[in-house]
Amino acid sequence: MNKKQKNLLVRIIVAAVFFVPVWLISEGIIRVEMPRWALFALFLISYLTVGHDILRKAALGVKNKKPFDECFLMTVATVAAIALGEYGEGVAVMLLYQVGELFQSVAVGKSRRSISELMDIRPDYANIEGEDGKLERVDPDEIEVGSLIVVQPGEKIPIDGTVEEGTSALDTAALTGESRPRSVKAGDAVLSGSINLSGVLRLRTTAAFEESTASKILDLVENAASRKSKSENFIAKFARIYTPVVCFAALALAVLPPVFIALTGIGMSGYEGIGQVFRDWVLRACTFLVISCPCAVVISVPLSFFAGLGGASNQGILIKGSNYLETLSSVSTVVFDKTGTVTRGNFEVTGVHHAEMDRARLLELAAHAECHSSHPISLSLQRAYGKEPDPLRVSDVEEISGHGVLAAVDGQQVAVGNEKLMTRIGAEALPCHEAGTVIHVALNGDYAGHFLIRDELKDGAKETVAALQKAGVKRVVMLTGDMHKVAEQVADEVGISEFRAELLPQDKVNAVEELLAENAGKGKVAFAGDGINDAPVLSRADIGIAMGALGSDAAIEAADVVLMDDDPRKIAKAIAISRKCLRIVRENIIFALGVKAVCLILSALGLANMWIAIAADVGVMILAVLNAIRCLFVKRL
Ligand code: ADP
Ligand code: MG
Repeated sequence: MNKKQKNLLVRIIVAAVFFVPVWLISEGIIRVEMPRWALFALFLISYLTVGHDILRKAALGVKNKKPFDECFLMTVATVAAIALGEYGEGVAVMLLYQVGELFQSVAVGKSRRSISELMDIRPDYANIEGEDGKLERVDPDEIEVGSLIVVQPGEKIPIDGTVEEGTSALDTAALTGESRPRSVKAGDAVLSGSINLSGVLRLRTTAAFEESTASKILDLVENAASRKSKSENFIAKFARIYTPVVCFAALALAVLPPVFIALTGIGMSGYEGIGQVFRDWVLRACTFLVISCPCAVVISVPLSFFAGLGGASNQGILIKGSNYLETLSSVSTVVFDKTGTVTRGNFEVTGVHHAEMDRARLLELAAHAECHSSHPISLSLQRAYGKEPDPLRVSDVEEISGHGVLAAVDGQQVAVGNEKLMTRIGAEALPCHEAGTVIHVALNGDYAGHFLIRDELKDGAKETVAALQKAGVKRVVMLTGDMHKVAEQVADEVGISEFRAELLPQDKVNAVEELLAENAGKGKVAFAGDGINDAPVLSRADIGIAMGALGSDAAIEAADVVLMDDDPRKIAKAIAISRKCLRIVRENIIFALGVKAVCLILSALGLANMWIAIAADVGVMILAVLNAIRCLFVKRL
């Protein structure tokens, strides 16, 4: 509890200590002779102790010409009740209302804190080594790209970089939701926001602080709450219209029936005079006001979304706003990119065929031609080559997406890519007899042989399709730029029945647009990709889900949902979280409005008094908030 909440708690306790005995006396349960003004004074002490801030806020609202809020409802209802001599009810309403407020503020604070706790990745400083070998703490903002920094055990990595020296284990839970530590050694890339658990690491920074993973994630999470969902906007608008309507309805209830009774004389039986009729109806109007206070809905809907976003990020699923959470819940078609999404994108060069030169030479040419590309195929060729290619030997590089690369290596024209690329440059590609992705190489326009490379399925790729179906997804489609044969094999292994192969990036956009058109009105289309060559598709789909947030910047920008650990099962998880969250929102709206509707009718009929009204109001709010908090709890994979 913070100071404000503690303060409110103390006021509630003090007010209650005054209220209970005085109420018992006024009801005649404890027999003590006391003049009426003394009772009034004691009630007033209790009332002002607990409710002075509500009165002030209501007055402020009137002054600012925005009177219709909950404080106003409560003030009018309680002041009217007290003015009519119903001291006990007036004070009780204020007291219970504040109990509800306190509860809600503690709940909101709690979910906010658990989110910021898991987002506790903001690095405060970076260590650089001075000339005498002493470490100096500096603001990470001041570190330039390519500087050497030192991270000691127990410290947070402030900036993305590669390990220059040292070995250690990293806790990346805040980034990926993965609780097992990851071991790193020289040459490995590390991300800011991870915690160095064991050894001292010397890092060469690869990004500026602002561009580092930790800063980007924080930005993302901080902005997420401001992107409101339709339900939240609806509720805000609803409250703006609803509250004044209720106030006027209450006014009508207080005035019209008694005027009618006074004029016609109907229903006067049982009353001593017209004054008593008025009194009765004004009290009913007060009850009506208390019941109609919309706080349960107004508070629980945004809280549910907030908790849903928090629960998801706890699992390494970053959703960029409640609007996306909402869209995610109605996804019926999921489209996958193959490389890097379903498969690891970690190709192994398994064979070299038809080579016109020795294998090492072919690999050397290919690795050099590819030395500027960040495509998974390029990275795999580099790895197979085993040495650092010399960029000085390479010029005139042209990467043609969906095809491959053209470059001059030592002045000779080298082309590395698929059959499409070979056709394009007029070389005749020889087919491969083995299954796998085939990367052809041509030298000076003549065919020089091909590599057979093989990709592995990601862990969990097989479970993904079943998990998606369980989460309510009807159709799963895989798109790829790779060959039909490879696509078929992968689709078969993971159980995807629908796939399209040999697509250029533009074809992928067209394919997703077709799916969008077919799905119009039936549900949303999500696209999951790694952002390499498919950033346009990510932004074109109803929901773009990026893998490899740990790599591609284009993806993190273009996507609406980012999976921090590239695990495809998290797609199903994200959808399940969003469905649960939306279900809870609906439950709360129906429950709160339902209870209110019943109470409103009862109060209009004179069957409910203010006690029932406030109990219903606070009770519904507490239940709705508890229900909303459930969004925060997500089962781990
Ligand atoms: P995917 O749909 O599998 O993610 P891409 O659209 O990135 O595929 O690429 C499609 C195909 O284009 C690859 O299978 C490969 O044959 C070829 N290709 C693309 N970029 C390169 C590259 N840098 N080097 C070699 N081949 C490439
Ligand atoms: Mg791809």
